[in-house]
Amino acid sequence: MILIKNADIINGLDKSVKRADILIVGNKIEKIGIDIKIQNPDLQTIDASGKYVMPSFTDIHCHLRDPGFEYKEDIRSGSLSAVAGGFTTICCMPNTNPPIDNRAMVAYVRYRAREVSPIEVLPIGAITKGLNGEELSEIGLMREEGIVAISDDGKCVMNANLMRNALLYAKDFSIPVISHCEDTNLSEGGQMNLGFVSTMLGLKGIPREAESVIVARDILLAKETKAHLHITHVSTKESVELIRRAKEWGVNVTCDTCPHYISLTEEEVIGFNTNAKVNPPLRTKEDVEALTEAIKEGVIDCITTDHAPHHKDEKNVEFNLAPSGTIGFETAFAVLYTHLVKNRGFEISKLVELLSINPRRIVNLKPNVIVENQKANLVIIDPNREWEVKEEDIISKSKNSVFLGKKLTSYVETVIYEGKILKKDGEIKC
Ligand SMILES: [Zn+2]
Repeated sequence: MILIKNADIINGLDKSVKRADILIVGNKIEKIGIDIKIQNPDLQTIDASGKYVMPSFTDIHCHLRDPGFEYKEDIRSGSLSAVAGGFTTICCMPNTNPPIDNRAMVAYVRYRAREVSPIEVLPIGAITKGLNGEELSEIGLMREEGIVAISDDGKCVMNANLMRNALLYAKDFSIPVISHCEDTNLSEGGQMNLGFVSTMLGLKGIPREAESVIVARDILLAKETKAHLHITHVSTKESVELIRRAKEWGVNVTCDTCPHYISLTEEEVIGFNTNAKVNPPLRTKEDVEALTEAIKEGVIDCITTDHAPHHKDEKNVEFNLAPSGTIGFETAFAVLYTHLVKNRGFEISKLVELLSINPRRIVNLKPNVIVENQKANLVIIDPNREWEVKEEDIISKSKNSVFLGKKLTSYVETVIYEGKILKKDGEIKC
């Protein structure tokens, strides 16, 4: 039995913030009211004065590296890192070894997650067998086993006819196709965004069109097939513009971007910082502005972390040889709060939409809301706490955060999932 006192609650159903107490009994919210008083020896009281309580977060794009690369992360360590960031549902990408491209692999992830993860882990199946872009994987059987979407993330399905068939299949099974948009003929050998900084550093650049030409192609395919296309980790202003037009056109398209694309630019790479090597690459100030505006307008539906753990030794090499990716669970909320709410005056409820409501809608999950008789899945946020991202505080097995050394405002203090306290006052309890 948990009693949260004096919380500023954003329930997830509307934008209002109201102050009340929340009583949690078992896995449910039993009562929300003013000044709830309870006499019970098992009662745990949490004082949330000056803090926000909101539905816990869902990430529909992350990498848990299990099976095959457990030295980077595994289902347990990834889940704990997610908990630290306030996520209680995470959808993991299929680029493991072997890849999640068949029923047995989906069953493995689900079984393993039930054994070792305190939160909900939902696999995303591969679009093509072995992520080779040649032949469709067993989408129907994987759907029966519990996938929530299909994606070849990390790679682009370059064959347009195959992508069209994937969209048609996914439509039949009522799941979205999550598209990693990258024309690999254009991006081949590229190390960072093509532009002034890449020229200055002498690194081969990835043109922005590598992303936007595939965004355009997939929009056209989604228009024709009427399937649900979800474009992930959008990074350029052209992509945003195409998606805006597609939505006006009535195409069944949704999209996300990641915290690093709305807060950082290609200049992070200066000094050959391999933690700033991500795919798609960090872009320019103009792109950051366009993405921020698109979030405000609702063109960008949700935020994903693209949590991509890599071992220190793999990143501690020449820039050209380093793998792409940054971890992201533990900093996501604070980066969004700092850049959107604190610096740009976005309403706090917008973050609930981006992290709790819309991602669940995209993969057809019931929303988490803070109302009586619903599951107690919530986070308590301290909006005023300032902290610096330090390697020694990172829960993930990998420490490759592009935000290392950055100062952020707001902190995910407490996380409750199905009535269980998984994190309290900054300490992981699971
Ligand atoms: Zn990814």
